[in-house]
Amino acid sequence: MKIAMLNPPHRYGQDTTQWITIPPQGYGGIQWVVATLIDGLLEAGCQILLVGAPGTTPRPGLTVSDAATFDTTLAALSEFRPDVVHDHTNGQLLPAEPSWPAVRTHHLNGVPEHRANGVYLSHAQRRAAGSAEAPIIRLPVNPDRCTYREKKDDFLLFLGRVSAHKGARDAAAFAQAARLPLKLAGPAWEPDYLHGILTDYPGTAEYIGEVGGSHRTELLAAARALLVLSQPFGGPFGGEWIEPGATVVAEAAASGTPVIATDNGCLAEIAPYVGIALPVEQTPTGEEAAKILASLPAPEQLRATAVERWGHHVVVAKYLEVYRRAAAGGTWT
Ligand code: UDP
Repeated sequence: MKIAMLNPPHRYGQDTTQWITIPPQGYGGIQWVVATLIDGLLEAGCQILLVGAPGTTPRPGLTVSDAATFDTTLAALSEFRPDVVHDHTNGQLLPAEPSWPAVRTHHLNGVPEHRANGVYLSHAQRRAAGSAEAPIIRLPVNPDRCTYREKKDDFLLFLGRVSAHKGARDAAAFAQAARLPLKLAGPAWEPDYLHGILTDYPGTAEYIGEVGGSHRTELLAAARALLVLSQPFGGPFGGEWIEPGATVVAEAAASGTPVIATDNGCLAEIAPYVGIALPVEQTPTGEEAAKILASLPAPEQLRATAVERWGHHVVVAKYLEVYRRAAAGGTWT
């Protein structure tokens, strides 16, 4: 099958000469999803055209386009002639009614720009988008791209955007209650928010910046637990934040690391398999935090659960079914 993958094109930091590649150099939720799906699709024998991530290294079966705009994307698609276009850009690179069968994975909150042939990441996200019948396919992880470690170090990890809706401050409060240091990793686009955490939780919270490569995988493997205390407010586009898919949950589990989450959005659906989903309004006491930490699943079990539920082969098999449906002329909202 010939599949065109449309990735949202973003420059790499302040650099105007480089794009964020697949996989990403640092932070990149959607980019990791695209990378993992490509791994699985190539293993399944598909031919892929990647658009929206110039500079990505091609490999057998994977062609990387230079296109990163709407018009150049359409030209690249005309030349490639895909069986299916898989859009991850919320319509940024694909018209409402494309000339090819298309599937659109929604990565954000609310009602998507184009609803036709949508795929959602959780029941919570699909409900908020007003869809009752579109497929739900969880975010994938490629266990071969994770480091697995049984023995953990004595720190907790936050890995993501250092923002209120991602619960970075709540992570510091949990770590303080648990009397464990917290490593905060990720882009801090709201410097005042980060400054507030470091000021209010001295001796607990340490900011280590955005991480990539082996630094990222080793942190994920070494942490006692990953904190994903997502909050239903302070989202990037205003309004309520409903955690849509949370790639970090599967990444941590595949690394043998348990997840302490809130029950916001998708987390209520996935975190209990690999840790715990706490009510958002609950800040645990020291005793409760210790109890939670003692109750978490063992590394071996976490890895097995991640592979079984969210492993790239499992998730790609679900996408191939959806691609076939779209290629055969199927439509849904
Ligand atoms: N990430 C990273 N480096 C960082 C912070 C995050 O590589 O410093 C990655 C993280 O491993 C995950 C992605 O960025 O793959 C964030 O995706 P997630 O779905 O968890 O959050 P969102 O897309 O909502 O920001």
